[in-house]
Amino acid sequence: MGEVVNSEKQPAVCRVCREEAAVEEGLCAACLLRAYRAAQRLAKRAQLAPPAVPISEDGILTAEEVAARLRVDKSTVYRLIRAGELRAVKVGRRSLVRGSALDRFVVEHRTRRIA
Ligand SMILES: [Zn+2]
Repeated sequence: MGEVVNSEKQPAVCRVCREEAAVEEGLCAACLLRAYRAAQRLAKRAQLAPPAVPISEDGILTAEEVAARLRVDKSTVYRLIRAGELRAVKVGRRSLVRGSALDRFVVEHRTRRIA
């Protein structure tokens, strides 16, 4: 809106409600309280439902990183790749594994439910 925000003594305006008021971090007291309560709700929700942690973000992993995540030896990873059980991407001489491929591998290799 073409207003020049001057850092020198200007009446402080809440960046949420645009009310002129005594502000802290750009918020008026009312908006500050609202933001604080929203943060509290979010924290509570995060506590109730901890986010599912995927084995990997969908990045690209080296054989070493795959081995570490699966808690197996690197040679096992290469064997799985050669056997076609774990899809890999060949980049030069290196075999890299997409995070999503690793997640799929884990899902596909779940043991059957017993009883
Ligand atoms: Zn406000």
